[in-house]
Amino acid sequence: MEKVTGQKILNGIAIGKILYYVKAQGNAEKRTISDTEAEVARFEAAKETAQEQLQVIYEKALAEQGEETAQLFEVHSMLLDDDDYKDAILAKINEDKVNAEYAVAATGEEFAEMFASMEDEYFQARSADIKDISTRVVNVLSGVQDMSDLAEPCILVAVDLAPSETVQMDTSKLLAFVTKEGSTSSHTAILARNMGIPALIKTPIDESWNGKLGIVDGASQTLIIDPDEATLADYQAKQAKEQAEKALLQELKGKETVTKAGRHVKLFANIGSVADMEVAKRNDAEGIGLFRSEFLYLNSSDFPTEEEQFQAYKAVAEGMEGKQVVIRTLDLGADKQVDYFNLGNEANPALGYRAIRICLEQPEIFKTQLRALLRASAYGNIAIMYPMITSVEEVRDIKEIVAEVMAELDGEGVAYNKDVKQGIMIETPASVLISDLLAKEVDFFSMGTNDLTQYTLAVDRQNNKLDRFYKPHHEAIKRAIKMVCDNAHAAGIWAGICGELGADPEMTEFFLTCGVDELSVASGMILPLRKKIRESEIG
Ligand code: PEP
Ligand code: MG
Repeated sequence: MEKVTGQKILNGIAIGKILYYVKAQGNAEKRTISDTEAEVARFEAAKETAQEQLQVIYEKALAEQGEETAQLFEVHSMLLDDDDYKDAILAKINEDKVNAEYAVAATGEEFAEMFASMEDEYFQARSADIKDISTRVVNVLSGVQDMSDLAEPCILVAVDLAPSETVQMDTSKLLAFVTKEGSTSSHTAILARNMGIPALIKTPIDESWNGKLGIVDGASQTLIIDPDEATLADYQAKQAKEQAEKALLQELKGKETVTKAGRHVKLFANIGSVADMEVAKRNDAEGIGLFRSEFLYLNSSDFPTEEEQFQAYKAVAEGMEGKQVVIRTLDLGADKQVDYFNLGNEANPALGYRAIRICLEQPEIFKTQLRALLRASAYGNIAIMYPMITSVEEVRDIKEIVAEVMAELDGEGVAYNKDVKQGIMIETPASVLISDLLAKEVDFFSMGTNDLTQYTLAVDRQNNKLDRFYKPHHEAIKRAIKMVCDNAHAAGIWAGICGELGADPEMTEFFLTCGVDELSVASGMILPLRKKIRESEIG
Protein backbone atom coordinates (compact mmCIF):
# COMPACT_ATOMS: atom_id res chain seq x y z
CA MET A 1 0.00 0.00 0.00
CA GLU A 2 1.26 3.46 -0.89
CA LYS A 3 -0.21 6.86 -0.06
CA VAL A 4 0.36 10.27 -1.65
CA THR A 5 -1.11 13.68 -0.91
CA GLY A 6 -2.23 16.39 -3.30
CA GLN A 7 -4.62 19.31 -3.34
CA LYS A 8 -8.32 18.64 -3.62
CA ILE A 9 -10.69 20.06 -6.20
CA LEU A 10 -13.77 18.27 -4.97
CA ASN A 11 -14.62 16.10 -1.98
CA GLY A 12 -15.80 12.57 -2.40
CA ILE A 13 -14.50 9.02 -2.41
CA ALA A 14 -13.71 7.02 -5.53
CA ILE A 15 -12.52 3.41 -5.53
CA GLY A 16 -11.36 1.79 -8.78
CA LYS A 17 -8.58 0.76 -11.09
CA ILE A 18 -5.91 3.38 -11.85
CA LEU A 19 -5.42 4.33 -15.48
CA TYR A 20 -2.14 6.15 -16.02
CA TYR A 21 -2.70 8.42 -19.00
CA VAL A 22 0.19 9.05 -21.36
CA LYS A 23 -0.21 12.03 -23.65
CA ALA A 24 -1.28 11.05 -27.12
CA GLN A 25 2.05 11.25 -28.87
CA GLY A 26 2.71 8.22 -31.02
CA ASN A 27 6.30 7.64 -31.99
CA ALA A 28 6.68 7.53 -35.77
CA GLU A 29 10.48 7.54 -35.92
CA LYS A 30 11.94 5.69 -38.91
CA ARG A 31 13.40 2.22 -38.25
CA THR A 32 14.63 -0.39 -40.69
CA ILE A 33 12.96 -3.75 -40.29
CA SER A 34 13.71 -7.18 -41.71
CA ASP A 35 10.46 -9.10 -41.09
CA THR A 36 8.12 -7.26 -43.47
CA GLU A 37 5.37 -9.84 -43.03
CA ALA A 38 5.21 -9.23 -39.27
CA GLU A 39 5.19 -5.47 -39.86
CA VAL A 40 2.30 -5.74 -42.33
CA ALA A 41 0.41 -7.84 -39.75
CA ARG A 42 1.03 -5.12 -37.10
CA PHE A 43 -0.34 -2.52 -39.48
CA GLU A 44 -3.43 -4.61 -40.32
CA ALA A 45 -4.18 -5.19 -36.62
CA ALA A 46 -3.72 -1.49 -35.78
CA LYS A 47 -5.98 -0.51 -38.66
CA GLU A 48 -8.67 -2.82 -37.34
CA THR A 49 -8.39 -1.37 -33.81
CA ALA A 50 -8.57 2.16 -35.26
CA GLN A 51 -11.74 1.18 -37.14
CA GLU A 52 -13.28 -0.13 -33.90
CA GLN A 53 -12.39 3.14 -32.12
CA LEU A 54 -13.96 5.16 -34.92
CA GLN A 55 -17.17 3.13 -34.64
CA VAL A 56 -17.39 3.87 -30.88
CA ILE A 57 -16.71 7.59 -31.44
CA TYR A 58 -19.26 7.66 -34.27
CA GLU A 59 -21.98 6.25 -32.01
CA LYS A 60 -21.07 8.61 -29.15
CA ALA A 61 -21.08 11.63 -31.47
CA LEU A 62 -24.39 10.55 -32.99
CA ALA A 63 -26.02 10.29 -29.58
CA GLU A 64 -24.50 13.47 -28.14
CA GLN A 65 -23.95 15.81 -31.06
CA GLY A 66 -26.15 14.68 -33.91
CA GLU A 67 -25.83 13.29 -37.40
CA GLU A 68 -23.58 15.90 -39.00
CA THR A 69 -20.72 15.65 -36.48
CA ALA A 70 -21.02 11.87 -36.44
CA GLN A 71 -20.65 11.71 -40.21
CA LEU A 72 -17.14 13.07 -39.92
CA PHE A 73 -16.08 9.84 -38.24
CA GLU A 74 -17.79 7.83 -40.93
CA VAL A 75 -15.63 9.71 -43.44
CA HIS A 76 -12.56 8.85 -41.34
CA SER A 77 -13.55 5.22 -41.41
CA MET A 78 -13.92 5.27 -45.21
CA LEU A 79 -10.58 7.01 -45.70
CA LEU A 80 -8.90 4.41 -43.51
CA ASP A 81 -10.25 1.71 -45.82
CA ASP A 82 -9.14 3.50 -48.97
CA ASP A 83 -7.13 1.12 -51.20
CA ASP A 84 -4.67 3.75 -52.48
CA TYR A 85 -3.83 4.83 -48.92
CA LYS A 86 -3.39 1.26 -47.77
CA ASP A 87 -1.32 0.25 -50.85
CA ALA A 88 1.01 3.21 -50.33
CA ILE A 89 1.62 2.12 -46.71
CA LEU A 90 2.21 -1.52 -47.68
CA ALA A 91 4.62 -0.46 -50.45
CA LYS A 92 6.70 1.46 -47.92
CA ILE A 93 6.84 -1.48 -45.51
CA ASN A 94 7.55 -4.11 -48.21
CA GLU A 95 9.85 -2.15 -50.51
CA ASP A 96 11.56 0.41 -48.27
CA LYS A 97 11.63 -2.03 -45.31
CA VAL A 98 10.51 0.56 -42.79
CA ASN A 99 8.46 0.18 -39.61
CA ALA A 100 4.66 0.47 -39.78
CA GLU A 101 4.54 3.67 -37.67
CA TYR A 102 6.83 5.49 -40.09
CA ALA A 103 5.08 4.07 -43.16
CA VAL A 104 1.69 5.29 -41.89
CA ALA A 105 2.93 8.73 -40.81
CA ALA A 106 4.84 9.34 -44.06
CA THR A 107 1.90 8.19 -46.21
CA GLY A 108 -0.42 10.39 -44.13
CA GLU A 109 1.78 13.41 -44.82
CA GLU A 110 1.97 12.66 -48.57
CA PHE A 111 -1.77 12.19 -48.92
CA ALA A 112 -2.54 15.25 -46.78
CA GLU A 113 -0.33 17.37 -49.03
CA MET A 114 -1.92 15.93 -52.14
CA PHE A 115 -5.45 16.69 -50.85
CA ALA A 116 -4.46 20.18 -49.74
CA SER A 117 -3.23 21.04 -53.24
CA MET A 118 -6.50 20.02 -54.93
CA GLU A 119 -8.86 22.65 -56.36
CA ASP A 120 -12.03 21.14 -54.95
CA GLU A 121 -12.80 22.45 -51.44
CA TYR A 122 -14.24 19.12 -50.35
CA PHE A 123 -10.95 17.33 -51.05
CA GLN A 124 -8.93 20.14 -49.48
CA ALA A 125 -10.87 19.60 -46.27
CA ARG A 126 -9.99 15.89 -46.34
CA SER A 127 -6.33 16.82 -45.82
CA ALA A 128 -6.89 17.30 -42.07
CA ASP A 129 -8.90 14.06 -41.93
CA ILE A 130 -6.16 11.97 -43.47
CA LYS A 131 -3.68 13.41 -40.96
CA ASP A 132 -6.12 12.60 -38.16
CA ILE A 133 -6.57 8.96 -39.13
CA SER A 134 -2.83 8.49 -39.67
CA THR A 135 -2.17 9.86 -36.16
CA ARG A 136 -4.82 7.50 -34.82
CA VAL A 137 -3.15 4.44 -36.41
CA VAL A 138 0.33 5.58 -35.28
CA ASN A 139 -1.06 5.98 -31.74
CA VAL A 140 -2.49 2.47 -31.78
CA LEU A 141 0.83 1.10 -33.06
CA SER A 142 2.71 2.98 -30.30
CA GLY A 143 0.37 1.78 -27.54
CA VAL A 144 -1.11 5.21 -26.76
CA GLN A 145 -4.45 4.82 -24.98
CA ASP A 146 -7.64 5.84 -26.70
CA MET A 147 -9.55 7.81 -24.10
CA SER A 148 -12.80 7.86 -26.03
CA ASP A 149 -13.41 4.20 -25.29
CA LEU A 150 -12.52 3.19 -21.74
CA ALA A 151 -13.07 -0.49 -21.01
CA GLU A 152 -14.05 -0.06 -17.37
CA PRO A 153 -14.61 2.68 -14.77
CA CYS A 154 -11.26 4.08 -13.69
CA ILE A 155 -9.33 6.67 -11.69
CA LEU A 156 -7.45 8.74 -14.24
CA VAL A 157 -3.89 9.65 -13.27
CA ALA A 158 -2.01 12.06 -15.54
CA VAL A 159 0.67 14.75 -15.55
CA ASP A 160 -1.93 17.26 -16.74
CA LEU A 161 -4.92 17.32 -19.05
CA ALA A 162 -5.70 19.89 -21.72
CA PRO A 163 -9.33 20.79 -22.52
CA SER A 164 -8.82 19.30 -26.00
CA GLU A 165 -7.92 15.99 -24.34
CA THR A 166 -10.70 15.86 -21.75
CA VAL A 167 -13.24 16.65 -24.44
CA GLN A 168 -12.38 13.39 -26.22
CA MET A 169 -12.75 11.29 -23.10
CA ASP A 170 -15.45 8.85 -22.31
CA THR A 171 -16.27 10.72 -19.12
CA SER A 172 -19.04 8.31 -18.16
CA LYS A 173 -16.34 5.85 -17.04
CA LEU A 174 -14.23 8.30 -15.04
CA LEU A 175 -14.42 7.88 -11.26
CA ALA A 176 -11.84 10.53 -10.32
CA PHE A 177 -8.98 12.64 -11.66
CA VAL A 178 -5.52 12.87 -10.14
CA THR A 179 -2.98 15.14 -11.82
CA LYS A 180 0.59 16.13 -11.05
CA GLU A 181 0.05 19.65 -12.34
CA GLY A 182 -3.08 21.78 -12.80
CA SER A 183 -4.59 24.61 -10.83
CA THR A 184 -7.87 24.97 -8.96
CA SER A 185 -9.44 27.06 -11.70
CA SER A 186 -8.05 25.11 -14.65
CA HIS A 187 -10.49 23.54 -17.04
CA THR A 188 -9.69 20.05 -15.79
CA ALA A 189 -10.81 21.20 -12.36
CA ILE A 190 -13.96 22.70 -13.86
CA LEU A 191 -14.66 19.45 -15.67
CA ALA A 192 -14.26 17.47 -12.44
CA ARG A 193 -16.70 19.79 -10.68
CA ASN A 194 -19.17 19.60 -13.56
CA MET A 195 -19.06 15.84 -13.42
CA GLY A 196 -19.23 15.86 -9.64
CA ILE A 197 -16.29 13.47 -9.26
CA PRO A 198 -13.48 13.75 -6.72
CA ALA A 199 -10.26 15.21 -8.05
CA LEU A 200 -6.77 15.98 -6.80
CA ILE A 201 -4.15 18.21 -8.39
CA LYS A 202 -0.46 18.74 -7.55
CA THR A 203 -0.14 15.11 -6.55
CA PRO A 204 3.04 13.08 -7.06
CA ILE A 205 2.28 10.36 -9.63
CA ASP A 206 4.00 7.22 -10.89
CA GLU A 207 3.49 5.28 -14.11
CA SER A 208 3.93 1.94 -12.28
CA TRP A 209 0.51 2.43 -10.63
CA ASN A 210 -1.23 1.75 -13.93
CA GLY A 211 -3.75 -1.09 -13.47
CA LYS A 212 -3.52 -1.15 -9.66
CA LEU A 213 -6.46 -0.53 -7.36
CA GLY A 214 -6.68 3.06 -6.11
CA ILE A 215 -8.72 5.08 -3.62
CA VAL A 216 -9.15 8.84 -4.00
CA ASP A 217 -10.33 10.64 -0.89
CA GLY A 218 -11.04 14.30 -1.62
CA ALA A 219 -11.58 15.28 2.02
CA SER A 220 -8.13 14.10 3.17
CA GLN A 221 -6.60 15.00 -0.23
CA THR A 222 -5.06 11.56 -0.61
CA LEU A 223 -4.60 8.90 -3.24
CA ILE A 224 -4.03 5.41 -1.87
CA ILE A 225 -2.49 2.84 -4.19
CA ASP A 226 -2.95 -0.87 -3.67
CA PRO A 227 -4.82 -0.52 -0.33
CA ASP A 228 -4.64 -3.30 2.27
CA GLU A 229 -7.85 -5.09 3.15
CA ALA A 230 -8.65 -3.08 6.27
CA THR A 231 -8.16 0.28 4.47
CA LEU A 232 -10.29 -0.86 1.55
CA ALA A 233 -13.11 -2.01 3.85
CA ASP A 234 -12.92 1.27 5.76
CA TYR A 235 -13.26 3.31 2.57
CA GLN A 236 -16.02 1.14 1.19
CA ALA A 237 -18.00 1.88 4.36
CA LYS A 238 -17.25 5.64 4.08
CA GLN A 239 -18.31 5.60 0.45
CA ALA A 240 -21.60 3.90 1.34
CA LYS A 241 -22.27 6.62 3.96
CA GLU A 242 -21.47 9.34 1.42
CA GLN A 243 -23.89 7.79 -1.05
CA ALA A 244 -26.60 7.70 1.63
CA GLU A 245 -26.09 11.44 2.26
CA LYS A 246 -26.37 12.10 -1.46
CA ALA A 247 -29.60 10.14 -1.49
CA LEU A 248 -30.98 12.47 1.22
CA LEU A 249 -30.28 15.47 -1.00
CA GLN A 250 -32.42 13.85 -3.66
CA GLU A 251 -35.43 14.79 -1.55
CA LEU A 252 -34.77 18.42 -2.48
CA LYS A 253 -35.51 17.74 -6.12
CA GLY A 254 -38.58 19.62 -7.27
CA LYS A 255 -38.45 21.91 -4.21
CA GLU A 256 -38.07 25.69 -4.57
CA THR A 257 -34.73 27.46 -4.11
CA VAL A 258 -35.90 30.03 -1.58
CA THR A 259 -34.63 31.30 1.77
CA LYS A 260 -36.73 31.04 4.95
CA ALA A 261 -37.47 34.76 4.51
CA GLY A 262 -38.82 34.17 1.01
CA ARG A 263 -35.94 35.30 -1.22
CA HIS A 264 -35.77 33.28 -4.47
CA VAL A 265 -32.48 32.53 -6.18
CA LYS A 266 -32.26 30.91 -9.61
CA LEU A 267 -30.08 27.84 -9.38
CA PHE A 268 -28.76 27.05 -12.86
CA ALA A 269 -26.12 24.64 -14.20
CA ASN A 270 -22.89 25.13 -16.13
CA ILE A 271 -22.48 22.77 -19.08
CA GLY A 272 -19.96 22.18 -21.87
CA SER A 273 -21.90 19.79 -24.08
CA VAL A 274 -25.33 18.44 -24.90
CA ALA A 275 -24.48 15.35 -22.84
CA ASP A 276 -23.80 17.52 -19.75
CA MET A 277 -27.38 18.78 -19.98
CA GLU A 278 -28.65 15.34 -18.97
CA VAL A 279 -26.53 15.53 -15.78
CA ALA A 280 -27.91 19.03 -15.13
CA LYS A 281 -31.47 17.76 -15.49
CA ARG A 282 -30.81 14.79 -13.21
CA ASN A 283 -29.67 17.31 -10.57
CA ASP A 284 -32.81 19.40 -11.04
CA ALA A 285 -31.17 22.47 -12.59
CA GLU A 286 -33.67 25.32 -12.97
CA GLY A 287 -31.98 26.37 -16.20
CA ILE A 288 -28.56 26.50 -17.87
CA GLY A 289 -26.62 29.60 -16.82
CA LEU A 290 -23.49 28.93 -18.86
CA PHE A 291 -23.14 26.68 -21.89
CA ARG A 292 -19.45 26.96 -22.76
CA SER A 293 -19.98 26.73 -26.52
CA GLU A 294 -16.24 26.71 -27.23
CA PHE A 295 -16.24 23.01 -26.37
CA LEU A 296 -18.02 22.40 -29.69
CA TYR A 297 -14.98 23.98 -31.35
CA LEU A 298 -12.49 22.10 -29.16
CA ASN A 299 -14.19 18.85 -30.04
CA SER A 300 -13.79 19.37 -33.75
CA SER A 301 -10.87 19.20 -36.18
CA ASP A 302 -12.28 22.07 -38.24
CA PHE A 303 -14.72 24.97 -37.73
CA PRO A 304 -18.05 23.45 -36.65
CA THR A 305 -20.58 24.33 -39.33
CA GLU A 306 -23.68 26.43 -38.71
CA GLU A 307 -25.80 23.28 -38.99
CA GLU A 308 -23.67 21.34 -36.45
CA GLN A 309 -23.90 24.19 -33.98
CA PHE A 310 -27.61 24.70 -34.61
CA GLN A 311 -28.27 21.02 -33.85
CA ALA A 312 -26.37 21.22 -30.53
CA TYR A 313 -28.05 24.48 -29.38
CA LYS A 314 -31.48 23.25 -30.48
CA ALA A 315 -30.96 19.98 -28.58
CA VAL A 316 -30.25 21.90 -25.35
CA ALA A 317 -33.08 24.39 -25.92
CA GLU A 318 -35.56 21.58 -26.50
CA GLY A 319 -34.12 19.36 -23.77
CA MET A 320 -34.55 22.09 -21.14
CA GLU A 321 -38.23 22.34 -22.03
CA GLY A 322 -38.76 26.10 -21.83
CA LYS A 323 -36.30 26.74 -18.98
CA GLN A 324 -33.72 29.42 -19.71
CA VAL A 325 -30.54 28.31 -21.50
CA VAL A 326 -27.73 30.90 -21.52
CA ILE A 327 -25.28 30.07 -24.31
CA ARG A 328 -21.96 31.86 -24.26
CA THR A 329 -20.41 32.62 -27.63
CA LEU A 330 -17.02 31.04 -28.22
CA ASP A 331 -14.43 31.78 -25.56
CA LEU A 332 -11.33 30.41 -27.25
CA GLY A 333 -7.73 31.51 -26.87
CA ALA A 334 -5.59 31.55 -23.71
CA ASP A 335 -5.67 27.96 -22.40
CA LYS A 336 -8.34 26.86 -24.91
CA GLN A 337 -6.45 26.47 -28.18
CA VAL A 338 -7.64 24.88 -31.40
CA ASP A 339 -5.18 24.34 -34.25
CA TYR A 340 -7.49 25.39 -37.06
CA PHE A 341 -7.96 28.90 -35.59
CA ASN A 342 -4.22 29.51 -36.08
CA LEU A 343 -4.13 31.85 -33.10
CA GLY A 344 -0.35 31.75 -32.99
CA ASN A 345 1.91 32.09 -29.98
CA GLU A 346 1.48 35.10 -27.75
CA ALA A 347 3.66 36.35 -24.91
CA ASN A 348 0.56 36.93 -22.72
CA PRO A 349 -2.25 34.73 -24.05
CA ALA A 350 -4.64 35.52 -21.16
CA LEU A 351 -4.32 39.19 -22.09
CA GLY A 352 -4.33 38.41 -25.76
CA TYR A 353 -6.38 37.51 -28.76
CA ARG A 354 -9.24 35.61 -27.18
CA ALA A 355 -13.01 35.28 -26.83
CA ILE A 356 -15.03 38.27 -28.10
CA ARG A 357 -11.88 39.83 -29.55
CA ILE A 358 -11.60 36.97 -32.05
CA CYS A 359 -15.32 37.36 -32.87
CA LEU A 360 -15.05 41.09 -33.48
CA GLU A 361 -11.89 40.70 -35.57
CA GLN A 362 -13.24 37.76 -37.58
CA PRO A 363 -16.98 38.52 -37.88
CA GLU A 364 -17.58 35.71 -40.37
CA ILE A 365 -16.79 33.15 -37.63
CA PHE A 366 -18.98 35.07 -35.18
CA LYS A 367 -21.85 35.35 -37.66
CA THR A 368 -21.91 31.61 -38.25
CA GLN A 369 -22.31 31.07 -34.52
CA LEU A 370 -24.93 33.82 -34.18
CA ARG A 371 -26.97 32.38 -37.06
CA ALA A 372 -26.93 28.97 -35.35
CA LEU A 373 -27.89 30.49 -31.98
CA LEU A 374 -30.69 32.63 -33.39
CA ARG A 375 -32.13 29.76 -35.43
CA ALA A 376 -32.08 27.58 -32.30
CA SER A 377 -33.84 30.34 -30.33
CA ALA A 378 -37.04 29.36 -32.14
CA TYR A 379 -36.98 26.03 -30.29
CA GLY A 380 -36.77 27.08 -26.64
CA ASN A 381 -35.75 29.76 -24.17
CA ILE A 382 -32.25 30.66 -25.40
CA ALA A 383 -30.29 33.70 -24.18
CA ILE A 384 -26.96 34.71 -25.73
CA MET A 385 -24.00 35.79 -23.61
CA TYR A 386 -20.75 37.45 -24.72
CA PRO A 387 -17.44 36.81 -22.89
CA MET A 388 -14.49 39.06 -21.97
CA ILE A 389 -16.27 42.40 -22.41
CA THR A 390 -14.25 45.47 -21.47
CA SER A 391 -16.16 48.38 -23.07
CA VAL A 392 -19.53 49.76 -24.14
CA GLU A 393 -18.18 50.06 -27.71
CA GLU A 394 -17.64 46.29 -27.88
CA VAL A 395 -21.27 45.71 -26.89
CA ARG A 396 -22.45 48.17 -29.53
CA ASP A 397 -20.27 46.51 -32.19
CA ILE A 398 -21.75 43.15 -31.20
CA LYS A 399 -25.28 44.53 -31.45
CA GLU A 400 -24.56 45.79 -34.97
CA ILE A 401 -23.38 42.36 -36.06
CA VAL A 402 -26.40 40.71 -34.40
CA ALA A 403 -28.70 43.15 -36.25
CA GLU A 404 -27.02 42.23 -39.56
CA VAL A 405 -27.50 38.52 -38.88
CA MET A 406 -31.15 39.08 -37.90
CA ALA A 407 -31.73 41.04 -41.13
CA GLU A 408 -30.19 38.16 -43.11
CA LEU A 409 -32.48 35.65 -41.39
CA ASP A 410 -35.49 37.89 -41.96
CA GLY A 411 -34.58 38.10 -45.65
CA GLU A 412 -34.42 34.31 -45.84
CA GLY A 413 -37.67 33.92 -43.93
CA VAL A 414 -35.94 31.88 -41.20
CA ALA A 415 -37.68 31.74 -37.81
CA TYR A 416 -35.95 32.99 -34.64
CA ASN A 417 -36.88 34.72 -31.39
CA LYS A 418 -36.77 38.43 -32.24
CA ASP A 419 -36.72 39.27 -28.51
CA VAL A 420 -33.83 36.94 -27.67
CA LYS A 421 -32.21 38.07 -24.41
CA GLN A 422 -28.56 39.14 -24.66
CA GLY A 423 -26.20 39.50 -21.75
CA ILE A 424 -22.51 39.78 -20.99
CA MET A 425 -19.96 38.13 -18.78
CA ILE A 426 -18.56 40.46 -16.15
CA GLU A 427 -15.08 39.01 -15.84
CA THR A 428 -12.72 41.94 -16.35
CA PRO A 429 -12.11 44.75 -13.83
CA ALA A 430 -13.05 47.26 -16.58
CA SER A 431 -16.50 45.75 -16.96
CA VAL A 432 -17.04 45.93 -13.19
CA LEU A 433 -16.06 49.59 -13.05
CA ILE A 434 -18.37 50.54 -15.92
CA SER A 435 -21.14 48.10 -15.00
CA ASP A 436 -23.55 51.06 -14.58
CA LEU A 437 -23.02 51.95 -18.27
CA LEU A 438 -23.03 48.35 -19.49
CA ALA A 439 -26.26 47.61 -17.60
CA LYS A 440 -28.10 50.05 -19.88
CA GLU A 441 -27.00 48.06 -22.95
CA VAL A 442 -27.85 44.46 -22.06
CA ASP A 443 -30.51 42.21 -20.53
CA PHE A 444 -28.36 40.55 -17.86
CA PHE A 445 -24.92 40.15 -16.29
CA SER A 446 -23.19 36.94 -15.35
CA MET A 447 -20.03 37.29 -13.28
CA GLY A 448 -17.14 35.08 -14.38
CA THR A 449 -15.26 35.00 -11.10
CA ASN A 450 -12.52 32.72 -12.47
CA ASP A 451 -11.25 35.35 -14.88
CA LEU A 452 -12.33 38.23 -12.67
CA THR A 453 -10.03 36.89 -9.94
CA GLN A 454 -7.22 36.40 -12.45
CA TYR A 455 -7.44 39.91 -13.86
CA THR A 456 -8.25 41.77 -10.64
CA LEU A 457 -5.48 40.16 -8.63
CA ALA A 458 -3.06 39.95 -11.59
CA VAL A 459 -2.61 36.21 -11.01
CA ASP A 460 -2.44 33.79 -13.95
CA ARG A 461 -5.18 31.22 -13.22
CA GLN A 462 -3.20 28.51 -15.08
CA ASN A 463 -0.02 28.95 -13.11
CA ASN A 464 -0.08 26.44 -10.28
CA LYS A 465 2.85 28.14 -8.57
CA LEU A 466 0.52 31.03 -7.84
CA ASP A 467 -2.32 29.14 -6.18
CA ARG A 468 -1.76 30.81 -2.81
CA PHE A 469 -2.15 34.20 -4.47
CA TYR A 470 -5.26 33.22 -6.41
CA LYS A 471 -7.90 34.25 -3.87
CA PRO A 472 -11.48 34.48 -5.13
CA HIS A 473 -12.51 35.43 -1.55
CA HIS A 474 -10.38 38.60 -1.74
CA GLU A 475 -12.13 41.75 -0.55
CA ALA A 476 -11.61 43.28 -4.02
CA ILE A 477 -13.67 40.49 -5.60
CA LYS A 478 -16.40 40.82 -2.96
CA ARG A 479 -16.64 44.56 -3.58
CA ALA A 480 -16.77 43.93 -7.32
CA ILE A 481 -19.68 41.49 -6.87
CA LYS A 482 -21.61 43.95 -4.70
CA MET A 483 -21.02 46.81 -7.15
CA VAL A 484 -22.13 44.77 -10.15
CA CYS A 485 -25.33 43.64 -8.37
CA ASP A 486 -26.17 47.21 -7.36
CA ASN A 487 -25.59 48.58 -10.87
CA ALA A 488 -27.57 45.76 -12.46
CA HIS A 489 -30.54 46.28 -10.14
CA ALA A 490 -30.48 50.07 -10.60
CA ALA A 491 -30.94 49.45 -14.32
CA GLY A 492 -33.58 46.77 -13.77
CA ILE A 493 -31.60 43.78 -15.01
CA TRP A 494 -30.55 40.59 -13.23
CA ALA A 495 -27.03 39.65 -12.13
CA GLY A 496 -25.72 36.12 -11.65
CA ILE A 497 -22.46 34.31 -11.02
CA CYS A 498 -21.23 31.54 -13.30
CA GLY A 499 -17.59 31.31 -12.14
CA GLU A 500 -16.51 28.58 -9.73
CA LEU A 501 -16.96 30.86 -6.72
CA GLY A 502 -20.72 30.68 -7.24
CA ALA A 503 -20.66 27.09 -5.98
CA ASP A 504 -18.68 27.84 -2.83
CA PRO A 505 -21.11 27.27 0.09
CA GLU A 506 -18.95 29.53 2.29
CA MET A 507 -19.96 32.43 0.04
CA THR A 508 -23.68 31.71 -0.33
CA GLU A 509 -24.78 34.00 2.51
CA PHE A 510 -22.60 36.81 1.16
CA PHE A 511 -24.13 36.43 -2.31
CA LEU A 512 -27.62 36.57 -0.81
CA THR A 513 -26.69 39.76 1.06
CA CYS A 514 -25.47 41.34 -2.21
CA GLY A 515 -28.72 40.41 -3.94
CA VAL A 516 -27.25 37.97 -6.47
CA ASP A 517 -30.22 36.74 -8.55
CA GLU A 518 -28.77 33.62 -10.09
CA LEU A 519 -26.03 31.09 -9.36
CA SER A 520 -24.88 28.91 -12.22
CA VAL A 521 -22.81 26.05 -10.87
CA ALA A 522 -21.50 22.57 -11.57
CA SER A 523 -24.50 20.23 -11.67
CA GLY A 524 -23.34 18.27 -8.65
CA MET A 525 -23.52 21.43 -6.51
CA ILE A 526 -27.16 22.31 -7.28
CA LEU A 527 -28.80 20.24 -4.55
CA PRO A 528 -26.22 21.05 -1.80
CA LEU A 529 -26.68 24.77 -2.58
CA ARG A 530 -30.44 24.48 -2.59
CA LYS A 531 -30.16 22.99 0.92
CA LYS A 532 -27.90 25.86 1.99
CA ILE A 533 -30.20 28.56 0.57
CA ARG A 534 -33.33 26.98 2.07
CA GLU A 535 -31.62 27.08 5.48
CA SER A 536 -30.75 30.79 5.18
CA GLU A 537 -32.71 33.51 6.99
CA ILE A 538 -31.75 36.29 4.54
CA GLY A 539 -34.68 38.07 2.96
C1 PEP B 1 -15.10 32.62 -15.56
O1 PEP B 1 -14.12 33.21 -16.04
O2 PEP B 1 -15.43 32.68 -14.35
C2 PEP B 1 -15.96 31.77 -16.43
C3 PEP B 1 -17.10 31.29 -16.00
O3 PEP B 1 -15.51 31.48 -17.67
P1 PEP B 1 -14.32 30.43 -17.99
O4 PEP B 1 -13.98 29.70 -16.71
O5 PEP B 1 -14.82 29.52 -19.05
O6 PEP B 1 -13.23 31.32 -18.45
MG1 MG C 1 -13.92 33.38 -18.18
